[in-house]
Amino acid sequence: MEKIQMHTPLVEMNGDEMTRVIWKAIKDELLAPFVALNTVYFDLGLAERERTKDQITVEAANAAREYGVAVKCATITPNAQRMEEYKLTEMWKSPNGTIRSIMDGTVFRAPIMVDGISPVVKNWKEPITIARHAYGDVYRATEYRVPGPGKAELLFTGDDGASFRQTIYDFECAGVLQGQYNKDSSIVSFAHACFQYAADTRQDLWFSTKDTISKQYDHTFKDIFQEIYEKEYRARFAELGITYFYTLIDDAVARVIRSKGGFIWACKNYDGDVMSDMVSTAFGSLAMMTSVLVSPDGKYEFEAAHGTVTRHYYRYLEGEQPSTNPMATIFAWSGALKKRGELDGNAPLVRFGEKLEQASIATIAAGIMTKDMAGLWEKEEPARAVETVQFLKEIRARLETLLGE
Ligand code: NAP
Ligand code: MG
Repeated sequence: MEKIQMHTPLVEMNGDEMTRVIWKAIKDELLAPFVALNTVYFDLGLAERERTKDQITVEAANAAREYGVAVKCATITPNAQRMEEYKLTEMWKSPNGTIRSIMDGTVFRAPIMVDGISPVVKNWKEPITIARHAYGDVYRATEYRVPGPGKAELLFTGDDGASFRQTIYDFECAGVLQGQYNKDSSIVSFAHACFQYAADTRQDLWFSTKDTISKQYDHTFKDIFQEIYEKEYRARFAELGITYFYTLIDDAVARVIRSKGGFIWACKNYDGDVMSDMVSTAFGSLAMMTSVLVSPDGKYEFEAAHGTVTRHYYRYLEGEQPSTNPMATIFAWSGALKKRGELDGNAPLVRFGEKLEQASIATIAAGIMTKDMAGLWEKEEPARAVETVQFLKEIRARLETLLGE
């Protein structure tokens, strides 16, 4: 079989620990035999980040902006223990945070669903994708404890000297106080990323806030979304047969649970943090969650939602063959290859990405899976739990059949 050619390179960001091991295995077993891989390679492994004083992360993010599609392996976010372990000269920032701020993107997380493992919520038939606004609000708040009686005020002084002042509360006792903010520019980017992604994936878009209570703050989010929708997306959504739907966060929660899935739920930062953990748990497993960062001008970075699976890596270093689930990392590659193919008008590459996903899902549906999934398996015929390498070989056999058809 002749290898599929790539017209434009894909930005490849390697990472750490168990996922780095899996990264190579996926390339060797499932990609390189079929595709003439054309990538611009960045090693975001912690050793290289240390060696380059983290410049490599910035370069990788800039390359993602330049080429438009990237695929990223999970990476270690250093903490005190990692400083020691890797002899770091500095506690380098989270690569994902750095990439997100350079790409000004929104993260979309969606579960991979397979026959034989059903969501806890029995009416969910299609994936629910959460879009979390990853900027501002409580994550950038200023707060402190109020020591005792006194007046708390909210004061804004404009660069032109004009100021606004309002009493928050006349404290008669000790308490707590917090100031949060967000920026129109960031909300606008978030809205564009959501509308773009909905159009791209042909799914309805839901958005929820608490605008009835937060009449200025949350209402601004609602208004910005509505304005952008009317001006730039309503006609396109109608053409695609998809809808934009705004509702209160409490109403959204109830509707999501009763829904059959198959839509994107855009959430403010805190709501997205909490709801994405709830939704992913209800769908089954973190190892089956994909994640894509989409910038408002349509650049994409695909990755797995899970981390570097450190515990499995330490066992691997002791010679054990781990049964770590590679699905989310495979789907990061397939998602990136499909998107690259789509942008380049490269139909064989798109088809390859689709077949790779089909082969992976079919392997699990046939009862062959990694250990983490075997415990969730519901069919009568028991599941066969295999090591990662064996699982990849099983996928490869199915992929060869599918590509040959
Ligand atoms: P983690 O790597 O997601 O793993 C947590 C646990 O979840 C694992 O120990 C394992 O449970 C299970 N798990 C996760 N992915 C799995 C998979 N593919 N197959 C099977 N089981 C899986 O999270 P962590 O241990 O909190 O973090 C480890 C490192 O990853 C940290 O250094 C953190 O900074 C980094 N991290 C990176 C990203 C990213 O790059 N996007 C995201 C999160 C964390 P069992 O051990 O019980 O089998
Ligand atoms: Mg969280």
